[in-house]
Amino acid sequence: MSVNCLFCRIVKREVPASLVYEDEEVLAFNDISPQAPVHVLVVPKRHMATLNDLTPAEDHLVGRLIRQAAAIAAERGISAGGYRMVLNCNADAGQTVFHIHLHLLGGRPMHWPPG
Ligand code: 5GP
Ligand code: ZN
Repeated sequence: MSVNCLFCRIVKREVPASLVYEDEEVLAFNDISPQAPVHVLVVPKRHMATLNDLTPAEDHLVGRLIRQAAAIAAERGISAGGYRMVLNCNADAGQTVFHIHLHLLGGRPMHWPPG
């Protein structure tokens, strides 16, 4: 855990969030500034700042993040219509919170390429 990290503080319940899912390794909560009707953040409970910190030891955890996001998409009824998963890394991608998080976005048509 990193004391000044916003998402670590959400994991520790020091900052409130609208929780969607929790298990021993993963937490999911609604984004505070949703960019689509469904905008859920799925995070590992353990602090890792960026995708650049991943090692083979995290392969299983990354799989869990993606599969849990897909499960939430199914619960929200957007699986068939489609959805997007986004992982931003560092400045050029617009990362603002330096604790790895997967964005699940859906519930409206989206465009490609992204901005
Ligand atoms: P990034 O740009 O780092 O990929 O995404 C960070 C996301 O965290 C943004 O979509 C932003 O709206 C969201 N966010 C920032 N602060 C909070 C917060 O306090 N609570 C929640 N639930 N989401 C937040
Ligand atoms: Zn953190």
